[in-house]
Amino acid sequence: MPPVPPAEVVDLAILGAGCAGLSLAARLASGDGDLRVVLIDPRTEFADDRSWSFWHHDRHPLRNIVAHEWGGWTYADLAGRTATHRVPGMSYQYIRGVDFYRWALAEIARDDHLELRLGVAARDLSSVTLPDGSRGVRVMADGGEVLARRVVDTRPRRSAALVYQCFSGVEVEHGGALTTETDAVGLMTRMRSGADGLGFVYVLPLSPTRALVEWTRFSPVPLAESVVVAERDAELAALGLAEAMVVREEGGILPMGRVDAPASEIEGVVLAGNAGGALRDASGYAFLRIQQWARRCADALARGEDPAAHPVEPWVRRQMDRIFLQAVRAHPERTAEYFMAMARGVAPHRLLRFLTDRATAGDLASIIVSLPLLPFLAQLPDHRARLVAAASAARADRISR
Ligand SMILES: Cc1cc2nc3c(=O)[nH]c(=O)nc-3n(C[C@H](O)[C@H](O)[C@H](O)COP(=O)(O)OP(=O)(O)OC[C@H]3O[C@@H](n4cnc5c(N)ncnc54)[C@H](O)[C@@H]3O)c2cc1C
Repeated sequence: MPPVPPAEVVDLAILGAGCAGLSLAARLASGDGDLRVVLIDPRTEFADDRSWSFWHHDRHPLRNIVAHEWGGWTYADLAGRTATHRVPGMSYQYIRGVDFYRWALAEIARDDHLELRLGVAARDLSSVTLPDGSRGVRVMADGGEVLARRVVDTRPRRSAALVYQCFSGVEVEHGGALTTETDAVGLMTRMRSGADGLGFVYVLPLSPTRALVEWTRFSPVPLAESVVVAERDAELAALGLAEAMVVREEGGILPMGRVDAPASEIEGVVLAGNAGGALRDASGYAFLRIQQWARRCADALARGEDPAAHPVEPWVRRQMDRIFLQAVRAHPERTAEYFMAMARGVAPHRLLRFLTDRATAGDLASIIVSLPLLPFLAQLPDHRARLVAAASAARADRISR
């Protein structure tokens, strides 16, 4: 038998070529470092599987791939209350998955030090001594192993959380059946809440005849996809879109208010993306936070440092988000009321700063004043462990019956 060739050693293995993995690899490719990097993902193609939206001003590195933007965003409930927010200099911007993937892959292809291995799933990781005597990580993957000095692991993982944002959307060609403003997105419309949580419709008007329409549910447990899709289809029918032509679909479940620590126990491994704490607890937005992390992480690597993790959430923001999510769990039937109170009672620029991680003390005070006092005061103590345990017990009970 021929001798088995020694496993190659790379400077960095990135596990997962999704939003976080590609963002980091693209940033590394656009720098002038010479780290040898391998990017591994079981997918074999990059389909138009999702879209990313965020608030931003006019200038940023991904401006060229923004497909749409809107100057306003609307909150509305089923009772007819509504508020449309506009903030000078800021727009709500939309990037199609397919455009993001194309951009990142083109950046990566320009750099010989970066290798993208598709159709390969990473499995077990362990600490190892590398041939030069330094510490590293062994990545067991389909088709062999990779030895890496450092690993950035963005593989999705299950997380226990206070609330799960479960959503399912369709991009539809509706021939004008949906009449909405074209310069404002429906951020949270048709909001209603009951004992089983909040539901709302997210509408991005992409042209007079095309829109992305998403049904979202906040739930204490992850909901089955079939449940969310059935509810989505009922909303589409209520909006007169039952016959609209579906161009593509997207959906998922985002944990809000995770209770586990986003850190790896293996030396040399950094978790990133949703797995590493990129999702903002109170909103489920992560795209811009991933871009900021990718820049910081690429800069750290270029300086010869270890890859950077997502920054720890500042204490005040963590507490605000926790209290809000606990209040949602304590009174799911009041969730729509809470969102409408903030939309109508907080100045748009203040609420936007809160949503985009830039809140000042004045913004936080304004949000607190807009909300009913007693239900939120009751949530000052940290009840997360108890609430998560109660949700899993209720779920186990439902499954066993
Ligand atoms: C449909 C959808 C829409 C969203 N829209 C927005 C939005 O509008 N704005 C916003 O801010 N946030 C949004 N988010 C939240 C967040 O931005 C996204 O989830 C984002 O894709 C997270 O990036 P990620 O790299 O952590 O995960 P992903 O992009 O999901 O990438 C994870 C990668 O890991 C790969 N992988 C899985 N198993 C393995 C394995 N064993 N080995 C190696 N690789 C593996 C997967 O194939 C995937 O490519 C959305 C999320 C979803 C699901």
